[in-house]
Amino acid sequence: MADVHLRHINKCFGPIEVIPDIELEIPHGSFTVLVGPSGCGKSTLLRMIAGLEKPTSGTIEIGGTDVTGFEPSNRGISMVFQSYALYPHMTVAQNIDFGLRLMKMPAAEREERVRDAAKRLHLEPLLDRKPSELSGGQRQRVAIGRSIVRNPKVFLFDEPLSNLDAALRTQMRVELAELHQSIGATMVYVTHDQVEAMTLADQIVVMNGGRIEQVGPPMELYDNPQTEFVAAFIGSPK
Ligand code: ADP
Ligand code: MG
Repeated sequence: MADVHLRHINKCFGPIEVIPDIELEIPHGSFTVLVGPSGCGKSTLLRMIAGLEKPTSGTIEIGGTDVTGFEPSNRGISMVFQSYALYPHMTVAQNIDFGLRLMKMPAAEREERVRDAAKRLHLEPLLDRKPSELSGGQRQRVAIGRSIVRNPKVFLFDEPLSNLDAALRTQMRVELAELHQSIGATMVYVTHDQVEAMTLADQIVVMNGGRIEQVGPPMELYDNPQTEFVAAFIGSPK
């Protein structure tokens, strides 16, 4: 069953059409990676799923519900960005808890959720620190923690690792894969890095100039690229 279904999605910014007409099904529980060169429309597509950007035409379904007119907060999604804007004056625990406080959740349940998220992300020893006392990787974990506590049905990631150095990126990839295994939610992950796509995805969506070139499991794209673009992009070493 598709968890996220984009039907005839078209997006224009003023007179410029950046996404012509896209159909895409994102299977429930999958780790789907949208990959393609800079400027090809990955962030725009993700922002439309999140509700931060409106499609010019077409519909978006999440979990079988047409959410095209829904506010971001009512879509059952959570988004993690590249620039993890943490609140500098709050501790790690307060940062993770912030969204739950806004939801007016009872304190006992909030505490349990924050503790559970901290455990999953190896943040337990850091809960009382301020963001300025954390490494880049630790900050990114806190940003992911803020998503996890809200129990979203769908996680959206826009190049969350691109500000980290190579070693940390590799480590965070492993942790993201483990997280996906342990919580089993649908994850939609944007990157321009084909190595990241190949290692994380169970489904890869290759985009080029606003269009979808090919959709399939990593090895299928590698073994059987259907366009020259896919062959060149997936096959080229970083
Ligand atoms: P990617 O994330 O793949 O790098 P984007 O989705 O950010 O690509 O951008 C796709 C295209 O849409 C680019 O040509 C970009 O300049 C354009 N674009 C993105 N956001 C806006 C906007 N708010 N206004 C005008 N053009 C935009
Ligand atoms: Mg982008």
